[in-house]
Amino acid sequence: MSEATPTVWQTAITTLQQRIKPHNFDMWLRPIRCASISGSEIKLCAPNRYIKEWFEDNYLAIVLQELQTQTDLDYQVVFDLEEEASSPVAPVIEIETPVKKETDISFDRGHRYLFDSFVAGPSNQLAHAAATAVAEGGHSAKYNPLFICGGAGLGKTHLLYAIGHEIHKNQPHLRIMYLSSEHFMNDYIKHVRAFKMEAFRSTYRDQCDVLLMDDIQFIAGKTGTQEEFFHTFNALHDADRQIVVTSDKYPQEIPELEDRLRTRFQWGLIADIQAPELETRIAILKAKAEKEQIRLPDDVALFVATQIRSNVRELEGALIRLAALSSLKRVEISMELAKETLLNSVGKNSPGLTIDTIQKEVCTYFSLKVTDLRGSKRHKAVTRPRQIAMYLSRKLTSSSFPEIGNRFGGKDHSTVISACRKIEGLVENDLSIRTAVETLERHLQL
Ligand code: ADP
Ligand code: MG
Repeated sequence: MSEATPTVWQTAITTLQQRIKPHNFDMWLRPIRCASISGSEIKLCAPNRYIKEWFEDNYLAIVLQELQTQTDLDYQVVFDLEEEASSPVAPVIEIETPVKKETDISFDRGHRYLFDSFVAGPSNQLAHAAATAVAEGGHSAKYNPLFICGGAGLGKTHLLYAIGHEIHKNQPHLRIMYLSSEHFMNDYIKHVRAFKMEAFRSTYRDQCDVLLMDDIQFIAGKTGTQEEFFHTFNALHDADRQIVVTSDKYPQEIPELEDRLRTRFQWGLIADIQAPELETRIAILKAKAEKEQIRLPDDVALFVATQIRSNVRELEGALIRLAALSSLKRVEISMELAKETLLNSVGKNSPGLTIDTIQKEVCTYFSLKVTDLRGSKRHKAVTRPRQIAMYLSRKLTSSSFPEIGNRFGGKDHSTVISACRKIEGLVENDLSIRTAVETLERHLQL
């Protein structure tokens, strides 16, 4: 058995390497060591607790899934730390769920998702207030259903768990079910195959007082599952059971969602979450740092919050990455460390930043027209800004040199490469270019 151990792990990791961004792979997966596999128990070891926790929250599920694909085994994970940290771990509050035993680790991760650790701000105020109200109401449905929607990494799952924990705290007799709609679907299929629909229906309709269903957009287009969910919804709603649903889109924007479900989602309250503003991003960073006992200087908090704008998960990831590196290198978190670790990885990762946006910003800065930038005029008043725009496109988006060339009116990739080299040199030696580049970068990342 132990002979084969490294191979199974190695194969899984190598397969995943193709799906994960290189800097994330290097930071969070590569350092995880597989000490042994015996039977269905797998022993892993991480260099420090930051890497361990981030790995558990974000990658463990897909690693386990990959291992399962290879071996058909459900592995139990035993985790060790190379460097013993002594921070106490919050106790896990158990919520009733029919899916607890399966490899869906989201439940374990849910223990950190409480109202206490959720930072409210203008971007999430309505969703936060509605979630609190629902959690207080518990059984007597006030907003039913509550439909929470918003982009990835903005706190939907966090709020959903927080509702569950709060209800459980106040009314421990209530049977609370947390599950993703994907899980609902898999469970449905399993029961259909086994001719056990009675059991399925009784689980979801008769043994549930509060249904917390994550990522409902997933069942769109899945006819059988939608049908079954529709009846589950009706049964619970008729019995005045609270239903909370999250989605990455508004009900009216989910393609292939049955109209009758759409209508039902609109019966209650629809609360959306927007990307947080700068102040909220800073507050989230500070709250997280305090909770994890990470020393985070104000200038670094501002810097990180300026770099990452549209996804709280990435914001937290950057903080944990900093903490992990400061612990590995045994240095304090500083602007220097932050620049070194974030500018390379995060800049390229800024979601939503496009070459178009960069071109427009550069044109505003230099009072040019976008057509000039994309055209072929060769005097310096145009070529320099064009080179800067190409340089920023390369640095801040994940576009390749040929793609960038295309977006600048079909220029050759070698032109883009030499523009990038040119500006790299000037940033070092020419103060006005450096100022321009830094100002533009700041604007583009606010
Ligand atoms: P979603 O389900 O919307 O994709 P999550 O709920 O998984 O997002 O949130 C991603 C991460 O960001 C989680 O670790 C969560 O705790 C954190 N997070 C999101 N919004 C906030 C917030 N307002 N305050 C504190 N943490 C937040
Ligand atoms: Mg989620």
